[in-house]
Amino acid sequence: ITVSDLVDESYKRIAAVDGKVKAFLTLDEENARTSAKALDEQSGSLEKGLLYGLPIGIKDNIVTEGLRTTCASQFLSNYNPIYDATVVTKLKSAQTVTIGKLNMDEFAMGGSNENSGFHATHNPWNLDYVPGGSSGGSAAAVAAGEVYFSLGSDTGGSIRQPAAYCGIVGMKPTYGLVSRFGLVAFASSLDQIGPLTKNVEDSAYLLQAITGHDAMDSTSLNADIPDYVSALTGDVKGLRIAVPKEYLGQGIDPKVKDAVLTALKVLEGQGAIVEEVSLPHSEYAVATYYLLASSEASSNLARFDGVRYGVRSENPKNLLDLYIKSRSEGFGDEVKRRIMLGTYALSSGYYDAYYLKAQKVRTLIKQDFEQVFENYDVIIGPTAPTPAFRMGSQTDNPLTMYLNDILTIPVNLAGIPAISVPCGFADGLPIGLQIIGKALDESTVLRVAHAYE
Ligand code: GLN
Repeated sequence: ITVSDLVDESYKRIAAVDGKVKAFLTLDEENARTSAKALDEQSGSLEKGLLYGLPIGIKDNIVTEGLRTTCASQFLSNYNPIYDATVVTKLKSAQTVTIGKLNMDEFAMGGSNENSGFHATHNPWNLDYVPGGSSGGSAAAVAAGEVYFSLGSDTGGSIRQPAAYCGIVGMKPTYGLVSRFGLVAFASSLDQIGPLTKNVEDSAYLLQAITGHDAMDSTSLNADIPDYVSALTGDVKGLRIAVPKEYLGQGIDPKVKDAVLTALKVLEGQGAIVEEVSLPHSEYAVATYYLLASSEASSNLARFDGVRYGVRSENPKNLLDLYIKSRSEGFGDEVKRRIMLGTYALSSGYYDAYYLKAQKVRTLIKQDFEQVFENYDVIIGPTAPTPAFRMGSQTDNPLTMYLNDILTIPVNLAGIPAISVPCGFADGLPIGLQIIGKALDESTVLRVAHAYE
């Protein structure tokens, strides 16, 4: 089998299913076929890496040189980056082939893909349901077999929640492990790029390919990178698992709870020790996150002024009018809501009451995790309180939408790694098990996920 065959299969599958799933915003067929051909022609002389020739998809907030990158915003509908994100450069040197750019909630704000400025993506398991978000296109494309794996970004759950809803594996690495250079910033202190794959082994391979220190990202860690694949020993004997009581309490769908308890039994059967713990500040996580993430977003999105990037409003009266019109026309409702919320929280009269207070609670949430990790190797709970929901069922209430993130957000606030792996179904829709680890202990997270899987 040649790389051209693989790429061909990928586009055939897209032609067959993407009219319904709608995972892609932009396809890069000509270039993909050219790179596939080039790899095939050099095949004899090339030293082939583990990801050699695999067709992949990239979330559309990760910049790709010469390939339209929109963040699913009308504002950037004409934006062609002049450089590649570090992760894209790394995957190119790993000899993968980029098939196209994947749909998302606009600027990664959302959990259903319904906030895309172009079109919604559908859940491949049931087209009437959302694929989750914001990396919904990345999850749906893998689940529907359109690409081998994809990259997403996770600020408050945007890799793990869509992975859970689409029945695949999604990992958010430790903050700073993967370079954010070329990731269009949503909330810089929370954003991380990570892999969406069909299984845990692929997740380990892909993570290995994208990690590493990058001088172009000032928050990039200079840490030793272990061999993630060799961590997949299948052995969890004596491993200590903490189950936070807050993660299986109020608001958790009983079918999700049952699936998680069954998964914990499986791990117990393999010799792990399972005990209940408490993360007492969990209840404040959603409020803390939406203040901090929106504050950072309001600042990060100031660069979209109609002058430097994307679409410029026509016939403005003056410079101020150009800013106002371009932003009013370019951004969707949810993005505007976050900018207003964040600007308010950062304004001088409210800074102490909201932004500063939220920073302090963030520290308490981080300390909750640190205390549990003094005695345990991993923390396990559901990825999301429910399976995927029906399209349109939550669009008129942003608060219920925000509550879907209650189990993923604390992990971003603490900067630690977590993975979502499939752990069963409810009414034909997948359920995700979330495994959370210590900072930079991706190996243990992957080991437990792999042993369970
Ligand atoms: N659903 C969350 C939000 O809307 C998380 C988004 C993300 O992780 N990018 O902010």
